[in-house]
Formats: sequence, structure tokens, C-alpha cells
Amino acid sequence: MGSGGKKRKGKREGEGKRKIGRRASKRKVEKNKKATNTRFDKIELIKLKNGIKEEKNNIDKIKKKMEKNQNKKYKKQLKDEKVKVIEKTGDISRRKKLKISILVTTIIFTIFIVRIAWLQFIDGDKLKKMAHEQQSLDRVINPRRGTIYDATGKTVLAVSSTVNTITVNPNNIAKEDKEKVATALSNIFELEYETVLRKVKRNTSSETIARKVEKEKADELRIWMKDNNIDIGINIDEDTKRYYPYNSLASQVIGFCGSDNQGLDGIEAIYEKELQGEKGRITKVTDANGGEIEGEGENYISAKDGNDIILSIDATIQGIAEKYLKEACIDNKCTDGGNITIMNPKTGDILAMAGYPNYNLNEPYETTIEELKPIWENMSETDQVKEMQKVWRNKAVADTYEPGSTFKLITASAALEEGITTTDKEGEFCCTGGITVAGVRIKCWRHYNPHGPESLRKALMNSCNPVFIGIG
Ligand SMILES: [Zn+2]
Repeated sequence: MGSGGKKRKGKREGEGKRKIGRRASKRKVEKNKKATNTRFDKIELIKLKNGIKEEKNNIDKIKKKMEKNQNKKYKKQLKDEKVKVIEKTGDISRRKKLKISILVTTIIFTIFIVRIAWLQFIDGDKLKKMAHEQQSLDRVINPRRGTIYDATGKTVLAVSSTVNTITVNPNNIAKEDKEKVATALSNIFELEYETVLRKVKRNTSSETIARKVEKEKADELRIWMKDNNIDIGINIDEDTKRYYPYNSLASQVIGFCGSDNQGLDGIEAIYEKELQGEKGRITKVTDANGGEIEGEGENYISAKDGNDIILSIDATIQGIAEKYLKEACIDNKCTDGGNITIMNPKTGDILAMAGYPNYNLNEPYETTIEELKPIWENMSETDQVKEMQKVWRNKAVADTYEPGSTFKLITASAALEEGITTTDKEGEFCCTGGITVAGVRIKCWRHYNPHGPESLRKALMNSCNPVFIGIG
């Protein structure tokens, strides 16, 4: 504790010295005090002033803040209001949109329903048929049309010979082969290339290229197909073509056929049902493009040939009748032509029915009239048909006659049977050009140059009216 005693001693000594200095410093202090006070005041003032400034600033800040906040508040309110407006307008437009979309959907569905109903009930059958056509290969086998014989049953007047019909299945011909196929078909069958190409390129299951093609041409195509490795898409089907061995013989009786072997005139048309037979067909189910479906075989229904017909017409008698009719018409300048009908008096069978002018059955659309031949090519099709209709017409059957002249035979037969008259008594009757019956004068057709005295045979030959009225 010795060190503590030393410090206390030192302190006392220091106190003494300070007492002396204290008075002087007291003045100083006071002086300082005064100075300090004024300085202090100034500082304080500045401090205060600064404080006021600060406060003012704060107020300004607060004001600004307040303003800002208020603005913010209003902005927020405004924003809220705007949002509300947007929400409300959105609500309205949403409702509108909903209404519109419901309306649009209803309209679309109605259209769909109407369309479905249309397809189902109105177009249904047509579309079904189209689908069937698209998905099946249907090839017709034509039956052989019945033969027409004369009364002997040996002479053939009309016969069907075998020809070929060429069809293509465009969907089964490869794209790169189409032009090649069209070129070959147009060359072999002498057809226009563009037309054939259009058919080959068509999106269908079957197109007819050529009808009634002779065997040689069909064989040429078969060879080409083999050489070019094309075995599907081109079909060669058997068909028949009508042929008339005697050309114009009994043409107006027999009539002719159209391109589908249908009878258009005469016996060919009247006995169509007997002659035509029943068509057969080859059917085959395919895919939508007409392509083959594996495992689907062909369905073959064979054709049933038509019945033959034997006419009462005798080809020999018919030929004789036609020969002399032609001669008579030319010699007598019969501009209207003529007819001969030969009947078996015992049975009523018609042995010959000749008409002049007649036509070639193998070329029914070509005239046989010499005067028309030079201008034929320049005539319109309508005029040609008009002219042909005149010669197609079987006047012996189609035209009407006064019964008078045909009835003379009955009058004459009755008179002979009753023994009133004989056949060849010269001058038994006399034609004066007419006869009066019940006050009406009936003229002979040659009233301008009356027949005068004549036998029954001559009266028949002359078709003399007054003679038969007299016998009656
Ligand atoms: Zn007379």
C-alpha cells in the first residue's frame, strides 16, 4: 500500500498550485463564459433554424408524402374502379360472347344435322350406288342374241358373231403407265389419243375404250399387254355383233340393232324379249380406289343366250319378190316405191314381204338410194335420219289402205263359188268409167280412159271398181 501514500502527497502539492491559478482563470472563465454563451446562442440559433428548416422540410416531405399517398390512394381507387369497369365490361362481353358462341354452335350443329339427314335420306340411295360402283368391279357379259332364220329353218337372216369390248379400270393402272397405255390403245383401235388418255386418267373404276372390236385387234392388244407386263387394268370382254348375211334381203321385215345389241326396228325390235337373252356379270369387291382386296374372289354369273326365231318368210321367194319389185318400180318410175306381199292362201303365212326402196341391214345409217348418195355426206344428221326412216318403214304393215281393192278377191271368190260368173269369158263385163249406186256415182280409177269390155280375170288385174260393184 506504499504507492497509494505517495499519490496522495503529490495531489496535495498540486492543489496548492491550482488555488493560485484559480482566480485568474475564474475571470477568464467568466469572460470565456460570456463568449461561449454568445457563441452557444448563435450555434443554438443556427441549430434551431436548421431544426426549423428540417421540420419544414419534413412537413413538406410529409405533405408531399401525404399528397403522394393520397394520390396513391386515389390512384388505387381509380385503378380499383377501372378494374371494376373492366370486370363489368368483361362480364358483359363474356355474356355476349357466350350468347354468340351458343348461337354459332347451334347453327353449326343444325347445319350438320340437316346435312346428315340430307346425305342419309335424300342422297342416300345415290351415294350407296356410287359407293358400290367405286368399291366393286362390275363387268357385264353380253348374252348371244338369238338367230333369225327363214321359213326353211336353214337360211340365216340375222346372226350374232363374237367380237370384243375393251374396257379399262383407271384405278388399277399405275400412274407411270397411263400415257403408255393410252398410246397403245389409241394406236391399236385407231382412236384419238387425248380422248383415250382422259379416260385412262379418270378416277373411276371402269371406262369403255372400244366396242365391237374384231378378234385380230383384241389379240394385238393381248400381245402388247404381255410384252409390257401389264396384266391388270385392261379388260378384253367377249361381246356380240349383229351380222346380216343377205344385207338388204327382207330388211324392212327384219329390222336392225343398236350398239348395245338392242333391237331398234322390225322383228329385232318386236321380238326383243325373245332374242336378247339375259346378261351375265363378273362382280368383284375392291377397295375404294378400285384396287384388289386379297382373298376376295370373282363372282361369275354366266349369261343366258337369247332364243332363235324362225320366220314364215322364205328367203328364196323373198329374193324373187324383191328382184321383180325393184324392176317394176324402176320401169314404171314409181317415185313412192312399192310393196309386194306373198301369202300362203292355205295357212295365211306371209312368204314374202318386199318393199322398195330398201336398205342394207349391216349399214342401216347409209342410204341405198342412188340420187341421195352424192349429197349424203353433206346432209345434216337430222335429214339423213329422216331419209332413212322412209326406207326403214315397212309400208306393207305400217301404212293403211282402202279395204276396197283387197275385198275384190272375196267378191270374186263368192261369185265363182256360186257359179254366177266364170274366170275368162271375154266381154262378160264392161267398164264405162263409173257406176251409180243409190244416186252416188262411184268412179273406176281409170275413169278418164275406161277399161271397156273385160273378163273377170282382167277385171281383177285392172282392179276395176264398176265390175265388182256389178257382181255384188
Ligand atoms: Zn274400169
